[in-house]
Amino acid sequence: MAGIVTAHELLSSGRHVLLIDKDKEENFGGLAKQSFGGVHMIDTPHQRRLRIKDSPELAWRDWQSVADYQPGDDWPRRWGRLYCENSREYIFEFLNSKQVKFLPLVNWAERGIYGPGNTVPRWHITWGTGFEIIDRLLQALHAHPQRANLELLFDTEISVIETANGRATGLRGKNMGSGEQINVSAEHIVIASGGICGGDLRRLRANWYKPWGQPPKKLLNGAHDYGDGMLHDGVAAVGGALTHLDLHWHYAAGVHHPAKRRPDDGLSLVPPRSALWFNARGERIMNPGPMPVYGDTRHLVESVLRQPGQYSWQVMNWKIAIRELAVSGCDYMHAFRFKNRSELLRNVLFGNKALVQRLIRECPEDIVVADTLEELMERMDEKNLYGLRLDRAQMEATIRHWDEMIARGPAFYNDDQLRRIANFRAYRGDRVRTCNFQAILNPKAGPLIAIREFILARKSLGGIQTDLQCRVLRAADEQRIPGLYAVGEAAGFGGGGIHGKGSLEGTFLGGCILTGRVAGQSIGK
Ligand SMILES: Cc1cc2nc3c(=O)[nH]c(=O)nc-3n(C[C@H](O)[C@H](O)[C@H](O)COP(=O)(O)OP(=O)(O)OC[C@H]3O[C@@H](n4cnc5c(N)ncnc54)[C@H](O)[C@@H]3O)c2cc1C
Repeated sequence: MAGIVTAHELLSSGRHVLLIDKDKEENFGGLAKQSFGGVHMIDTPHQRRLRIKDSPELAWRDWQSVADYQPGDDWPRRWGRLYCENSREYIFEFLNSKQVKFLPLVNWAERGIYGPGNTVPRWHITWGTGFEIIDRLLQALHAHPQRANLELLFDTEISVIETANGRATGLRGKNMGSGEQINVSAEHIVIASGGICGGDLRRLRANWYKPWGQPPKKLLNGAHDYGDGMLHDGVAAVGGALTHLDLHWHYAAGVHHPAKRRPDDGLSLVPPRSALWFNARGERIMNPGPMPVYGDTRHLVESVLRQPGQYSWQVMNWKIAIRELAVSGCDYMHAFRFKNRSELLRNVLFGNKALVQRLIRECPEDIVVADTLEELMERMDEKNLYGLRLDRAQMEATIRHWDEMIARGPAFYNDDQLRRIANFRAYRGDRVRTCNFQAILNPKAGPLIAIREFILARKSLGGIQTDLQCRVLRAADEQRIPGLYAVGEAAGFGGGGIHGKGSLEGTFLGGCILTGRVAGQSIGK
């Protein structure tokens, strides 16, 4: 996506562009094409219509609260500020001009747990998901008045950046099918090759964030097959700086992807808020309070990493699942992906039964269903790993206490998760997809469902260091390497780590657009 946006911007500046992709043409658009299409934007017309008062200053305060920038993070900090100050013009207006539409209700992700996150809702969901964004961008690219200046080359892997007298002058690589060598010379080179999460999980493990201890034995892969850092290495080989390669944005609720396109292929679930979260011993995971979904993704991941076996179980029932369970990405979110209003309305009113039935059918490796708790725990234990077993009496007592508290009524909700559910339901964007305090063992809400969830690797927060014009900086002296640029996830979405340690969500697609446009304009000038 970052490469496509850059190319579009360059065509508008009258440049000639050669866009090279290792992937096949049918996958043109990279990860964004599979994404859910949630975009973080500030002070948009959608927010204003909902009377959400937002501003770049407020957003920048929130951004810093999760970024937790460290001394020396000057470029990431500058990029973070640039994002907050320019998201409406650079991201919203750009997408709007390409006819990308958003759902009327702005979503409220990453609102923080004990400290601030997003003070107000900013997650704008694209009607048609990320697939639609890419579709519209490609239409714009092909319909560009300067289309004749664009050449596309697929199935071509680039491995080497050529330099002469300190300036980037060309690229070397090969055709993926025939192995035929390719050499390209160019006045400017823009690296838009994505992160380092997906291609090879060994690289992720080698760059694992040290304060988290050892990476889990089982990690699921939710990123790009070619996100192997080959061009990060290419940039380093010509002296470019790579920073924050140990910072990543993972998710806590990954299950094995039924498509099994690669080893440990992962599907990221949006976990229900009304489910109870347990570890493999059947102890409720406390953080130190309960796991607040949609509060702080990083916290969820850290909490699971502290559990025995470093995976978890979510326990719910059918009624909770059909209302709250979702999948991050476009493939499973049928109504969103195909812009089917009546289906979406049905899902909101009666629950998304088709999605839950499909997940149960396609993910038997991680999802178990039973009519009684006894039977459910039995099935969970059959799937428990590393010799871990549930303390069934303790788990049953925890669920019964939870249900009893719900039965006592809201005045007596003495559990942080229930209080947060009440808080979620106060915002209408969340009320439509959060149950009204649903007891788990209520026989009318069954069957019971338990989902075994692993850490799923998704986004690299660090990357190639760039200045505010996306020019790659040298490791030795922070001076720019003439002719060399980096955008999108490859550049840590700007400056080698715009997010610091954490994201407010939707900042990834937004960061691709922002960096792509900035790079294109900078070269254009
Ligand atoms: C299922 C899913 C849901 C998501 N949902 C959201 C969301 O709702 N909101 C959000 O903000 N973000 C979301 N994301 C993240 C977001 O989609 C990505 O961070 C973003 O699209 C990255 O774009 P990119 O252009 O930087 O890199 P990529 O999409 O990874 O593209 C990199 C391109 O470079 C090519 N390439 C790699 N190496 C080479 C090489 N050596 N030679 C030639 N070509 C090469 C690849 O083939 C690919 O086409 C989601 C991601 C996934 C997978």
